[in-house]
Amino acid sequence: MAALSELDTEAASPPDVGYMPVAYLNGFLQFLHRHRDVVELLTYERFHWASDDYDPATMYKAEHAAWRAWLAGAPERQRKIYLNLQLDVDGYPECTNRLLERMRALGIRCNVMIFNKHVSRRLLSSTNEIVPEEYPIDYALLQQNSPDPFVVGYHTNAVERGRYEMPRALELFEEDVVELRQSFPHLRFFSPHGGVPGPDRLNNNGIDIGEELQRRLNVRWVHNRRYPAHAANYTDGAINSGRRPQEDYQFETFVRKWRPGRRYQMLIHPHHYGDARRPGSVFSGSPWYENLWRTLIEGKRSVAQRARQRLSGVECPVWGRFVYVRPMGRFLWI
Ligand SMILES: [Zn+2]
Repeated sequence: MAALSELDTEAASPPDVGYMPVAYLNGFLQFLHRHRDVVELLTYERFHWASDDYDPATMYKAEHAAWRAWLAGAPERQRKIYLNLQLDVDGYPECTNRLLERMRALGIRCNVMIFNKHVSRRLLSSTNEIVPEEYPIDYALLQQNSPDPFVVGYHTNAVERGRYEMPRALELFEEDVVELRQSFPHLRFFSPHGGVPGPDRLNNNGIDIGEELQRRLNVRWVHNRRYPAHAANYTDGAINSGRRPQEDYQFETFVRKWRPGRRYQMLIHPHHYGDARRPGSVFSGSPWYENLWRTLIEGKRSVAQRARQRLSGVECPVWGRFVYVRPMGRFLWI
């Protein structure tokens, strides 16, 4: 696990202005659906936690050992690829609502990290004001589909809402968990939001939560600074920062890494995918990125493509070209 999992910057784009074509993501979901006999989707709920161990020094190692033992228990388990998907809703719940509808229709399992209270990132970073904003995440949809296929977790922004005062942040954290649990009694996991850093670069993932509070509230820290083991991970975080090579953002690069008997993690920010091209992306001009938009957006306009879409929804041509070669135990691009 690399520091990549820590990158969780929120895009400043409104809904429908994504960095990536939404058909690229939809195509990937259809790809997962088609290969559901090979790729088993996990959520943190399906991890092998020891029920009484909340110590960050031991619980991730113990979980990994238990997972390895489970895998060794039957040959057919070792033939599958395991993928743990996480959505960070951030400030654009409408985008997540649309994505969740598609995921439900395809039977795609995932973790959904939500705020309890959303504050304006723009005002916090410009004027240091804590201003609550509407957060119309579809509670009914999540409740009806929780804990399977959707595991709802708490995306904590308590440090920024507590103005970087740790005692206040811890109070807010506890309040948030208690309030969210009234709607989601299964809530057992949390992940810090990459928010607006405060003094000394303190961010939400600097929250001072150890064994005692995790045990008392029955919540586990699963992403961003503390996390269970995965063989490799993908994140679309910091997508417009220019800090990572464009290959890192290609789902294809990630899929090529997959091997049977391994567990992988993927972090998606649903608001990074839209139908209108965002001008000035750091990828603009790269052949891969330009070609992706051309194929998907121009392709959507063609008559043949439209006819096909009517039959199968929006199909991404990229994902038709990955096949699983069973004897080799890997996906190949053909
Ligand atoms: Zn976030």
